[in-house]
Amino acid sequence: MQIKCPKCSWIPQQDSKWTCEQCNTEINLFENVGECTSCRHRHLMVYCIDWEGGCGEMSPILDWCSGMDEELLKLNVKKLFD
Ligand SMILES: [Zn+2]
Ligand SMILES: [Zn+2]
Repeated sequence: MQIKCPKCSWIPQQDSKWTCEQCNTEINLFENVGECTSCRHRHLMVYCIDWEGGCGEMSPILDWCSGMDEELLKLNVKKLFD
């Protein structure tokens, strides 16, 4: 599975962190397919981290995961929109 920015192809690192837009906890958004481990808020848009070499644009999390195989993608779509 390859996760990368659909706009610039930046690949998040293992220790890349985003801030939850609801509770401000630092989380790796891809560990839980966009779900905050603290407040369970679901992020549908993912910021491409410019200070780690990304382009600074927001993209839907599904676009980041376009390299996923189909079964996994279906599972995650189900998870996202349940
Ligand atoms: Zn949160
Ligand atoms: Zn980018």
